[in-house]
Amino acid sequence: MNRNDFPWIIGNSDVAFFDNAATSHKPHQVIEAITHFYQYDYAPIHRGIYASAEQATLQYEQARQKVATFINARSTAEIVFVKGATEGINAVAATWALENLTKGDEIVLTAMEHHANLLPWQWVAQQKQAMLRYIPVTQGGCLDLSNLNTIITDRTKLVAVVSTSNALGTQNNLTPLIARAHTVGAKVLVDACQSVPHQKTDVQKLDCDFLVFSGHKMMGPTGIGVLYIKKELHSDIPPYQRGGGMVREVTYENATWLEVPQKFEAGTPPIAQAIGLGAAIDYYNNNIDFNALQKHEAQLTTAAIEGLSKISDVRLLGPIEDLKRYGHSITFIHKKYHPHDAAAMLDVNGIFVRAGHFCAQPLFTLWHMPSGAVRVSFFGYNTLEEVERFISVMKKL
Ligand code: PMP
Repeated sequence: MNRNDFPWIIGNSDVAFFDNAATSHKPHQVIEAITHFYQYDYAPIHRGIYASAEQATLQYEQARQKVATFINARSTAEIVFVKGATEGINAVAATWALENLTKGDEIVLTAMEHHANLLPWQWVAQQKQAMLRYIPVTQGGCLDLSNLNTIITDRTKLVAVVSTSNALGTQNNLTPLIARAHTVGAKVLVDACQSVPHQKTDVQKLDCDFLVFSGHKMMGPTGIGVLYIKKELHSDIPPYQRGGGMVREVTYENATWLEVPQKFEAGTPPIAQAIGLGAAIDYYNNNIDFNALQKHEAQLTTAAIEGLSKISDVRLLGPIEDLKRYGHSITFIHKKYHPHDAAAMLDVNGIFVRAGHFCAQPLFTLWHMPSGAVRVSFFGYNTLEEVERFISVMKKL
């Protein structure tokens, strides 16, 4: 990844942007693709029979193809465009889950889920009188899988789990969870918001049933995300929203639906955003080798962990019991400062970090840390020099 491709990063070279788990900056190639679309190719899709509408439809559907190839889906039919990961999870909750869960069924989550992968399931559980069960997190910041077989049982209908935690930075090993879920006939939803931008994703190898991620965390625009739905489930799923673009035939009394993904894309979709996401994927394909990206991010993470470990007032959270599970992000608390104060002091020194509970409030309540923690999260455009600057500011705190 070439740092010079990112206008915001270059325009703010006195700042170290370490809030990449929240969102990422965009390379000029993506910005230009979106501008180009609005300037030269803009048209509504799917319905127009004139040339520019057909051209815009082609570009939108090409973006779907790029996503399918990027995550190794078997077909574009498995790729639904949504507003973001939050909408993707809510869509599964409001459709497949309401249709397929009944009283007494169980939904298994982990104790490190983002609110986006917790609140929709609380709602489903309330609607259907289902139960939520949690895979615990160790004090060392990893999933405790020791009682997996008593948590995921014949009563489990869904396992919804984060691939890499935005709150702790832990990269979870999903293989045993997915295998166990499928043994008991449960479906698996993976919240892959924090992993898709940083490592190769292969939905066939993973064998998940649903997977969601957001475009804005992977150099794409806001307002676009992806909901992957395995083909075998398409017939079990009622429509998400009802309106134009998703119907086969409508009478005054009734309607029939198109297949997924159209069944899930009622109304005018986020056309420019999908094309922008396609441009971000082009950027990955042309400029990024995932092995090199992971190696670079691991170097930054290791340097930050080493530096922070030498500061006596800092306590690292995250996968401290299994350091190889750290990915692109590190969470810590400073014993003397409220996380917001630490973040504000870093901000004054040109280091942009995130502080709080990172939309994982139950975990921080469980750990008696109501104010949350501080998080630094990296991407390919960050440098070792920025990490050194961060550590030297931390030492002065
Ligand atoms: N899950 C995880 C792990 C996240 O990090 C985020 C974004 N912070 C979300 C879900 C929600 O993503 P979005 O806000 O883009 O819908």
